[in-house]
Amino acid sequence: MKIKVVKDILGANEQIAERNRQLLDSKGVLAVNLMSSPGAGKTSLILETIKRLKGKTRLGIIEGDVSSSLDAEVIGKEGVPVVQINTGGGCHLDANMTHSALGNMPLQDIELLLIENVGNLICPAEFALGEHKKVLISSIPEGDDKPFKYPSMFHKADVVLINKIDLLPYLKFDTDAFSQAIRGINERAEIFQISCATGQGIEKWVSWLLTQMSRRQS
Ligand code: MG
Ligand code: ZN
Repeated sequence: MKIKVVKDILGANEQIAERNRQLLDSKGVLAVNLMSSPGAGKTSLILETIKRLKGKTRLGIIEGDVSSSLDAEVIGKEGVPVVQINTGGGCHLDANMTHSALGNMPLQDIELLLIENVGNLICPAEFALGEHKKVLISSIPEGDDKPFKYPSMFHKADVVLINKIDLLPYLKFDTDAFSQAIRGINERAEIFQISCATGQGIEKWVSWLLTQMSRRQS
């Protein structure tokens, strides 16, 4: 019985997510769902992305958090539209919350929507928001065993970003083994090594974003 309830919830979520996707498509907006554990660098990545795309692409940001609007306030200073979702203790965003946020986002004025999910490597993988791409940020301090511990998240990612590579000299993390572990779960994911602190690799990530946008317009 319990299994059926969970399936119903996910099924209903899927329907709302599909409506969100249709709305985004009708406005020509590419939506990217950014997922990671807490502290892996979602907000930092958004800030680095804004820095490089300002003037080239019209961005909008949805900030998901359990509580507080600290990250949204930081991003709001960059002069891009930001909508905050507070989940009120909930550990993931869902399509319904995203639908409400989209109602407050000037969709006709943006081309690229970055959605910062709640920091959590488990259920965000199961709840579609209506995004076009799922991006997972892993970071060096978390250790290189995460693909084995959270396979569902790694399986669903279109891109895995390995963040904080500036810390590689100080921490034990085997990037080859990590990438191989991802490949064992997900053959299609693009893997980029980045550092939001030094800017290393960010250009590759940004050019991936621009490629996705141009593919949709053609
Ligand atoms: Mg954040
Ligand atoms: Zn959750």
